[in-house]
Formats: sequence, C-alpha cells, structure tokens
Amino acid sequence: MTIKEFVAKEKQALSLDVSGMERKPHLVIIQANDSPASDAYVRGKMRDCDEIGARSTLCLLPPTTEEDFLLQKIAEYNADDDVDGLIVQLPLPKHISEAKVKLAVDPKKDVDGFHPLTTFIPCTPKGIVDYLADIGFEFQGKNAVVLGRSEIVGKPMAKLLLAKNCNVTVLHSKTTEEDKVFYIAHADLIVVAIGRLGFLDQRFQYKESAVIVDVGINRNEEGKLRGDAVADLPVAVQTPVPGGVGLLTRLALMKNLIIAAKNR
Ligand code: NAP
Repeated sequence: MTIKEFVAKEKQALSLDVSGMERKPHLVIIQANDSPASDAYVRGKMRDCDEIGARSTLCLLPPTTEEDFLLQKIAEYNADDDVDGLIVQLPLPKHISEAKVKLAVDPKKDVDGFHPLTTFIPCTPKGIVDYLADIGFEFQGKNAVVLGRSEIVGKPMAKLLLAKNCNVTVLHSKTTEEDKVFYIAHADLIVVAIGRLGFLDQRFQYKESAVIVDVGINRNEEGKLRGDAVADLPVAVQTPVPGGVGLLTRLALMKNLIIAAKNR
C-alpha cells in the first residue's frame, strides 16, 4: 500500500469517527507570515479538516505583527470554548520568539505537540510511527538511526522510537562521516530529517531489509520538491518525496485534533 492509499484509508476512518460526534472538532491556525510555502501547508491542513468533517479557522496576521499582539490572540483562542486545537504556523517573523509562542498555547489544545507539557505526540514522528506500524515494521530491538536532532522532528522521533524499544542512534552535523557510514550500514530503520538534498545516496551501504523514511523537503535545480535521500536506494522500503512524510504529518494532525476534541 502506498502512503497515499494509507492516508486515504485512515482519513475515511477519521471521517466516520467525526460523523458520530455531536460537536465537530475545530482547529484554529494562526499564520503570521506571508510565505507561499506556509500558505500551501495551511491550505492543506484546512482541506484535511474539510475532508474529515472537522471545522477550521485561519487567523491570518501580517508579518509585521507585534509579539504581544500574537500572544494576546493565542490567549483569546485558548479561552475560547469552541476551539479544540490551536496551532501557530512556522516560521514566525524574526522579531517574535518561537519559544514564547510555543509556551503560550494551552497544552490541552496544542495539537502540534510543541509545548513541554503537551500530551500530544508531535505530528511528524507520530505520522511516521503510525505508518511503520501499518506496514508491519517490528520496532522492538531494531537498530534505528535518526539523522537530525531538531526539536520538531529529530528529537521527538528518537524519543518515540526509544519508547517502541528500538536501539536509537541520533546523528547530526557534528557526527563524523566515518561514523555515519558505520551506523547507517547497521540500521534497520533510517529516518533522515536534515534538509540536505539527496544526502543519503550510493556512497553509503544499506541493509537490504532497511526502511528509509525521508522527512526532508528540498528543491532541486529544476525547482522540484525532493527529499534528503536520492530515489531508489537498494533497501526494502523508501518513502517518496513528495507524497510521503508530508501526508503522514497532516494525517497525524487530524488524529491529534480529534483526540483534543474528545478530551474536553
Ligand atoms: P532543522 O531544524 O534545520 O534541523 C536540521 C538538523 O539536521 C540539525 O539537527 C542538524 O544538525 C542536522 N544536520 C544538518 N546537516 C547535517 C549533515 N550533513 N549530517 C547530519 N546531520 C545534519 O530541520 P528540521 O526542522 O528538523 O527539518 C529537517 C527537514 O525536514 C527539512 O527539510 C524540513 O523542511 C523537513 N520537514 C518536513 C516535514 C514534513 O512533514 N514532511 C516536517 C518537518 C520538517 P545540528 O543540530 O548539529 O545543527
């Protein structure tokens, strides 16, 4: 089953779930940038809400928005009983503290899973683990390599795989090339999230049975979206870009939104 088919199947189940709910879950997205990429992500999330029968509201603010004003908006949506999930689209303008914004969102509505006290699993790692479980990947005792240690992908991914009883190794920009070669050659699962076009290529050796999950989103010379791995590496499963982890991330957001609505 492709990721697109998996996501379509899961969304059908979510629609059914939502159709049985008296109050339809409501997601609010605050966007304080004018980035075309963010516009596309936000449109995608609102379309997902439509598809599963949830409600969504976009609060679009100009990039000149003052930090205090944004924090005030967040406080208003936190206090609004009709809002189940609240997310602030990244990136934020430079003059606004991302850390303050993440802390301002009510953990009960933090469906992105960014607040330190959140009960929600961040969407990209959650989407990946759900998909791996669906394709029958057995986590326990497997060697998992996570490339990248960001707060939104690498670190929560490593934590989640550890909770699934994988042997987790996190590699980053200070890892030597020699060590990368060693760990990648022994990996059963490689999650690459570094934002480097085609970083994983034929110079590494892979287990034939390995699974590569490509989180990266990069543009090639022709302006096309491509991942952190070159296509068709000699492994058992490799997720595509586009049409891969991005879809899984959006699906996980919808699952978190429904959980938030049910938790009230
Ligand atoms: P980030 O915050 O820029 O972090 C990049 C990480 O990669 C850092 O930990 C960095 O190490 C590491 N790194 C950079 N160059 C490396 C190298 N040559 N070898 C090993 N590690 C290296 O990025 P992010 O937010 O995690 O995103 C990573 C990629 O995933 C981006 O392309 C982003 O667009 C994409 N993404 C996709 C989705 C999705 O839904 N599909 C979601 C989120 C992100 P240091 O810590 O040492 O600097």
